[in-house]
Amino acid sequence: MKNLLLLFFLVASVCMSSQSTPDLIIKDANILSMTNSTVVMNKSVAVKNGKILQIDDFNKIKKDKNCKVIEAKGKFLMPGLAEMHSHLPDENKADTVLLRNVAAGVTHLRVMNADLDQVALKKRLESNDKSISPKLHYSFILTKDNKYTEAQFDSLMLEIKKSGLSFIKLFSIANEETFDNLMNSANKNKVIVCGHFPGSINIEKVIYSGFKSIEHVGGLDKIRDSSALLISILHTKEKEVFNCPTLDWDIMACNLQYPREYKHRLIYYNAPKHYLHRWETEYNKTINETGQEKILATKEKYLPSFKNKEKILKALYENNCLLIVGSDPGGVFQMEGFNMYEEMLNWSKAGIDNYTILKSATTNPALFFNEQDKWGTIEIGKDADMIILRKNPLEDIINIRTIETTILNGNIYKKTDLLKKM
Ligand SMILES: [Zn+2]
Repeated sequence: MKNLLLLFFLVASVCMSSQSTPDLIIKDANILSMTNSTVVMNKSVAVKNGKILQIDDFNKIKKDKNCKVIEAKGKFLMPGLAEMHSHLPDENKADTVLLRNVAAGVTHLRVMNADLDQVALKKRLESNDKSISPKLHYSFILTKDNKYTEAQFDSLMLEIKKSGLSFIKLFSIANEETFDNLMNSANKNKVIVCGHFPGSINIEKVIYSGFKSIEHVGGLDKIRDSSALLISILHTKEKEVFNCPTLDWDIMACNLQYPREYKHRLIYYNAPKHYLHRWETEYNKTINETGQEKILATKEKYLPSFKNKEKILKALYENNCLLIVGSDPGGVFQMEGFNMYEEMLNWSKAGIDNYTILKSATTNPALFFNEQDKWGTIEIGKDADMIILRKNPLEDIINIRTIETTILNGNIYKKTDLLKKM
């Protein structure tokens, strides 16, 4: 009987291991799993059907001849980036933008759109398995025109869930009563509401309402008294409200890097030459049309409020609040996906440590969507959405620009190949 049992286990384990031979192995990488801030040196990650199957020494991984191997000796492997504030252009331009994101290492994208029909985009992308796109988190955009009762919001929530949208982005709100109706209904129906800070509502009320993320440091940036600011920050922490500061939007919209600094943007390292040329032309045209003096005056005027935003970001960080990286691209020198690098560098300049920056672009976004069991770290069973970098971003955040390869659903995309398509 004992022998029979042993035989049974032997057969069972052989069957199981043959079922679990990987279809891809990233070999001998230095792994930044994002479960903590250590780098595990020289290990291999085996992938099957888009999931992480095993993390081990290469020779300990069972493999067959169909298994693809990516040599990653001396390189760094970490979870793909989540761009948490991006707008997609209309249908015919959306594909290029999605491609740029994948090229840059973005594997999740929170769509903060206004005009695009997101349900139609979702249907099209899902029906075409050749499309190259990060995993998209679609939104319903709520504006001050949606003056709904709680019951009307209830039916909206059902519709949102039915169409597979992930959250409501608040663009603007009609009044306090509508805000109450919205949050009552959203909390009851477990739908995420986030977005622009509703300016007419008291900040404590917003923080305690269940509002999930505040964009552009709204609300907090209007508090002048420093002890009142600290109280709101501590409440933000207590209620687990995320903040997505989008510093790069301010920097480019208010020309804060004019006249010289913009030439040092990381995009100069990555973007195709014809993009850079087009942006230079466009930028100079705007400067000439507005007049250099006026540009510099606006910059001077806006600089203190930008410094204030940086200060608030630092205070949120020092008080262990939840942060997410979103770069809000759209202007010149803000190539989608790649703009995440600029935003990460902006955070570093604001005094945020590299591990927190990387966490805010990987594990925190997964936590935001309550999908931390599925993605955001390199662990067995998680989605195989990863990036390979030439240099370690924990050592210097600027190394994020050395991303070479994006692995998405187990598919391999080389940055240089995708850039050639643009
Ligand atoms: Zn935006």
